[in-house]
Amino acid sequence: MTFSAVIVAAGSGSRAGPGQAKQWRLVAGKPVLRWSVEAFLAAGATAIVIVTTEDGENALSEVLAGLPSWRTARGGATRALSVQSGLAALADRPQDEPVLVHDAARPFVSGATVAGVLEALEGADAALPALPVADTLKRAEPGQNPTTTSREHLWRAQTPQAARRKTLLDAYAAWSGAEPTDDAQVVEAAGGRVAIAPGDPLLLKLTYPEDFAMAERLAGAARITRVGQGFDAHRWGPGEEVWLCGVAIKHDETLIGHSDADAGLHALTDAILGAIGEGDIGDHFPPTDDTWKGAASDLFLKHAADLVTAKGGSIVNVDVTLICERPKIKPHRLAMRERLAEILSLPLDRVSVKATTTEKMGFTGRGEGLAASAIVAVETPV
Ligand code: MG
Repeated sequence: MTFSAVIVAAGSGSRAGPGQAKQWRLVAGKPVLRWSVEAFLAAGATAIVIVTTEDGENALSEVLAGLPSWRTARGGATRALSVQSGLAALADRPQDEPVLVHDAARPFVSGATVAGVLEALEGADAALPALPVADTLKRAEPGQNPTTTSREHLWRAQTPQAARRKTLLDAYAAWSGAEPTDDAQVVEAAGGRVAIAPGDPLLLKLTYPEDFAMAERLAGAARITRVGQGFDAHRWGPGEEVWLCGVAIKHDETLIGHSDADAGLHALTDAILGAIGEGDIGDHFPPTDDTWKGAASDLFLKHAADLVTAKGGSIVNVDVTLICERPKIKPHRLAMRERLAEILSLPLDRVSVKATTTEKMGFTGRGEGLAASAIVAVETPV
């Protein structure tokens, strides 16, 4: 099911302490807002609206650098007005498309939560993730004895909350009460059916200064590490230079292939595609397509890296092994690592290139061809 998202990031968040508003502060080195945007991209959002202030809009190109599919809308004086502004910015999307409205202060959105609210929406007019209240509840006026209140049937409402865009716009248009604190209650007041989907303790709302210390500890649980491996081989043929890991090496033969036959880059591209479940290099760049005849393989690798970014992920490290008797790889290893680091925008110590012979055994040993294998670790939202 396609869906879009509206992330409300217009507040000043004064309860979170002095300094930057909480959506701009860093958790595990990444702005709070970016966590949510990456999570919605990973979950398959078609469009994401960031509702923010003029200053916020100016910061977004840096905060969301490299991420696709987002647009902005100007925040209003209240959360309700900001949400409506965000919905209006989705006018090009189908009016019955589900929209997930989310508070930027909840950085750790999981794919399971998104799937849960979308599934719950199928039988309802709005759906929200919520957790049953586990603590005993007390009510206390200042200076008075606390009284114990039943927690039965009580839920803690979280975001993202889902509704079809027209349902939500109509419900907001009909709203006449005090400022609502979430979107489900607006649909509820309009007579809509609201469904509860499983909430997630990780969806904590960053409100007070101490919440950020908790978020730092939880950040690791909100991402998963995936590995991918790739293998490629090309045959030697007449030529004067060979491309390996994006570097041209003078040699008395060349590798034969449809593109530049850079087996190192091909193996690495396949490893990245494997890590994110995106098929293989032939799916993305068919050898039957003349567009890629003689192509520099840098662009295959860049494409795979861009797909990782589009999923809200990042490459942790890569390790390539070239298997051949000749040419000698060692004199070119640093140049290869530097080139891969440049293409992938990674620090040099996260890029490894190794080489081995096969002791004159097999096709690489006999000098018929060169092989390459690669492994990569990628981090994505859960
Ligand atoms: Mg190849």
